[in-house]
Amino acid sequence: MSEKIVTFIGTGSMNGAIASGLLASGFHAQNVRATVHSAKSAQELPEKLGEEAEGVEVFSSEVSADANQKAVQGAAAVLLGVKPYDILDVLESLKDALDEETVVISVAAGVSLDSLQKAAGKKQPVIRCMPNTPARVGKGALAYSAGSTVTAEQRKLAEEILGAVGMVFQVEEEQMDAVTALSGSGPAYAFLLAECMKKAGMELGIDEELAKNLASTTVAGAGALLEKDPNPEDLRKAVTSPGGTTEQAIKAFQEGGIEELTLRAMTANAQKSAEMS
Ligand code: NAP
Repeated sequence: MSEKIVTFIGTGSMNGAIASGLLASGFHAQNVRATVHSAKSAQELPEKLGEEAEGVEVFSSEVSADANQKAVQGAAAVLLGVKPYDILDVLESLKDALDEETVVISVAAGVSLDSLQKAAGKKQPVIRCMPNTPARVGKGALAYSAGSTVTAEQRKLAEEILGAVGMVFQVEEEQMDAVTALSGSGPAYAFLLAECMKKAGMELGIDEELAKNLASTTVAGAGALLEKDPNPEDLRKAVTSPGGTTEQAIKAFQEGGIEELTLRAMTANAQKSAEMS
């Protein structure tokens, strides 16, 4: 894909992470275009994207009203990373500037393929992606569903771009609310666990700084093990000796209803996601 042009429309936190990852993976900066709204953000963007960003063409929609339209011309892929409430207006404004074969990839939470398709025009290839925040460090879980006009080649291109910041999974759109509840919001659950472990450590007599460092390093370390072997149940069993200390804690978690509580929390998340789409 090295000769293809990739355009980021709304290069903030999430699209910025994907653009940085793509550049760091060796994609040529000369083939990357990025737009933001304010002139100030445009000035700051190259530094935010990292040292490989030299040569990225940056546009500001505040400075030039047709910045987004110019930026998408001739692009093989356009990643939309503006806020969900702006995305359909922005996409609609690009309709006439997009090539027929440009694949449009939205990373906006809760915006359906149907809405994207209506805004882009019914033949435009569109993809809806749900990334998560570890994408900022190249460890994201990115789930996507593709509209009916997306070709295998366009899907491959989308997977290559998104794959620069993590693992990419294709899902049915009906699964997107569940995906939001699992991987989209999941990093917050791991942070919550680390927070609870820190507080409990303090209750048990460890000072705050040490409790924070032990809890964070432990959750991060467990994450690194999961990366090597993505089987949480096996890993848990391997560190739980019968009659040992870990077993006591796991028993208390299970008796306290951790599985039911997790299901309740994720169901509430998925319902909210469905209401918002
Ligand atoms: P953000 O950091 O606020 O980025 C939004 C970007 O859009 C900014 O660079 C902004 O420019 C730019 N922008 C606004 N209006 C524009 C326009 N008309 N033309 C061009 N650029 C424009 O937001 P974010 O957190 O990355 O979220 C972006 C999308 O990612 C959302 O749809 C969200 O649902 C999705 N998402 C985010 C996360 C996350 O962890 N952040 C996770 C999953 C999904 P200025 O800086 O000049 O205002």
